[in-house]
Amino acid sequence: MEFKRVSPYKFVVEKHGNMRVDALLISSDKLIQYVEKDKALEQLLWVATLPGIVKYSIGMPDIHQGYAFPIGGVGAFFYDGGVVSPGGVGFDINCGVRVIKTNLKYDYIKDSLEELGKTLFKMIPAGLGSTSDYTFSIEESKRAMKLGLEWAVEKGFAKEEDIENIEDNGRLEADPDCVSRHAIERGREEFGTLGAGNHFLEVDKVVEIYDKDLANAWGLYEGQIVVWMHTGSRGLGHQIATDYLDLMRPKMEKFGFKLVDRDSVYFPIQEDLSQRYLLAMGSAANFAWVNRQVLTYFVRKAFSKVFGMDYEKLGMEILYDVAHNIAKQEQYEVNGKLETLLVHRKGATRSFPKGHPKLKGKFKETGQPVLLPGDMKRGSYILVGSEKSIKETFGSVAHGAGRVLSRHQAVKQITFEDVQKELQREGILLYTNDKVVAREEAPLAYKSIDLVVEPIVNEGLANLVARSKPLIVIKG
Ligand code: 5GP
Ligand code: MN
Ligand code: MN
Repeated sequence: MEFKRVSPYKFVVEKHGNMRVDALLISSDKLIQYVEKDKALEQLLWVATLPGIVKYSIGMPDIHQGYAFPIGGVGAFFYDGGVVSPGGVGFDINCGVRVIKTNLKYDYIKDSLEELGKTLFKMIPAGLGSTSDYTFSIEESKRAMKLGLEWAVEKGFAKEEDIENIEDNGRLEADPDCVSRHAIERGREEFGTLGAGNHFLEVDKVVEIYDKDLANAWGLYEGQIVVWMHTGSRGLGHQIATDYLDLMRPKMEKFGFKLVDRDSVYFPIQEDLSQRYLLAMGSAANFAWVNRQVLTYFVRKAFSKVFGMDYEKLGMEILYDVAHNIAKQEQYEVNGKLETLLVHRKGATRSFPKGHPKLKGKFKETGQPVLLPGDMKRGSYILVGSEKSIKETFGSVAHGAGRVLSRHQAVKQITFEDVQKELQREGILLYTNDKVVAREEAPLAYKSIDLVVEPIVNEGLANLVARSKPLIVIKG
């Protein structure tokens, strides 16, 4: 495939065939080779064929094959004439990342790591089909899906201040009446569960500060203990995606739309069914924020237990919480005119700069934190959103390192002992219910997060603030 380099870290595939716009890849000489190893590029070009797409379909440096849209893919659509794609949001609606700060320093906790690891592992429901001690009725679950973080405050899982530190304040427009009974049934036992696979909970040490002023403003410093969490809307989101794919698929032909595979469903945004999907998606997004909040409640409890202190005394505030599987209504300048677009971020993180109208409180002054997990050995980055991302990538960057080995390949090449030894050498404690998952998620299965951060930072789409490395890893 012809990639035209337009700047050191930007490549374009010019429109051809059915493409309505070009495809833009944020990548590098080292990363671009991966794009053709699976179906990611094909999928990125397919996104560029969809009705109402604006400017270009975008692939992030961590791009890899997904369902319909590639993971690490962004597509923005006009409301008038544009489409929504459940596969462009993903099955795990509002899968996302949260970082919780502490005021503990590594030296203070280094002798308690095992106790902390064990306590967290006991308290956090993890693994395939894991259920929570907190099960709610259908009606109460619907309230959670409608109200998001406000519900969590009402139930005592959150304090009021937590709301300010979450993307969209932990609440999107939602209507749980657009969600099937089966989906709600799946969700009602999953409040505060990590799930399996790529989802994780990690205790990290901040190892590097790149921007002292911003780190200060956000309360980050070297040697500090922070907690990373990655999970989403569990069975609920998955069921909503499945339900709406099934509802839209047979009706696509009416609009002259064609499937390229089972999940490549798309539908005119203005149609009632699309509006219902978006309200169901909002319900799952709110549920995911509540899920990460109930997990936060467990994490705070575990730390309190181990260190014999109230979580507030331990400084356990949320730094930020980002959604990386979502579609949002946002405004951008297109051809000199402010337009309202539906931006799909599929395995992509919002990267809004200071002053953005959608940011509030201290983040309006600084820009939003961008949370980029790497892997269980090499650690993760915290960046800040920038104006350039608004101009170039609809306010978006990557969402992680991205896989380099498929799950299947990873299991073939890596034993559980390999993973254990590799982590032991670094002094990292691993807790998992499933040894196969640990092999699928081994550090070697992922690209180096440094490679992903390089094009983002060099193109100015987000700027470095801090980096942290794992001490304790809990895998689903
Ligand atoms: P997703 O699975 O949502 O597509 O991607 C999440 C990202 O999290 C992956 O691309 C990978 O970089 C990162 N990741 C996966 N497992 C771990 C882990 O155990 N620890 C950290 N820090 N990052 C991880
Ligand atoms: Mn997920
Ligand atoms: Mn995710």
